[in-house]
Amino acid sequence: MTKWAMTADLGRCVGCQTCTTACRHANNTPPGVQYRKVLDMEVGTFPDVRRVFVPVGCMHCDEPPCRDVCPTTATTKRADGMVMIDYDICIGCGYCIVACPYQARYKVSKSKWAFGETATDNETQRFDERLLGVAQKCTFCVDRIDAGLAKGLTPGLDPEATPACVNSCLSKALMFGDLDDPESNVSQLLKANKSFRMHEELGTGPNIHYLWETEDK
Ligand code: SF4
Ligand code: SF4
Repeated sequence: MTKWAMTADLGRCVGCQTCTTACRHANNTPPGVQYRKVLDMEVGTFPDVRRVFVPVGCMHCDEPPCRDVCPTTATTKRADGMVMIDYDICIGCGYCIVACPYQARYKVSKSKWAFGETATDNETQRFDERLLGVAQKCTFCVDRIDAGLAKGLTPGLDPEATPACVNSCLSKALMFGDLDDPESNVSQLLKANKSFRMHEELGTGPNIHYLWETEDK
């Protein structure tokens, strides 16, 4: 089997938000919608404190509460782990937006452009009317993954088959790959480093794994 997952090395992320920008470009998200965010946090106890930047987005949970509350089965989980929304079935009730503990989902009802009244060329080319009035979120760039696999490429290694945020990360903090393959980049990183997942206590089984710089790392 295949299980797609992402790792984010918190010792490498510099908070530049390049991944946020790449995501917004690739997915043409309107103002107020960010599939990818990078949290700016302070950790430690004064005076031993420091800033940590934490990339977040849809965690493609193993047990996604967004799917469980969906009254129309619009939200499903694929065999390869990706949590998807069928925009034709979604009725925009917003239950999933409330149920997601990671605040990963959005809904917009009217088209909005980054610079006011006129759409940019990118916004015009990538505008998808199906996204109005329904839930939307990060798809792990599923179109790139599926098209890449069809060409025999390896997601996470071949940029054409890899999520836009991972390709753009200038410090190589973000990696994507198959957790079911023990030789994959993400499996090897998780084997060699300490890691945690966000709100693991909720039992959602999130699939962004954070590599955490520890004293003995
Ligand atoms: Fe659903 Fe939120 Fe988990 Fe993504 S992070 S699968 S939207 S519950
Ligand atoms: Fe961090 Fe990489 Fe995103 Fe920059 S592009 S904010 S380094 S994860």
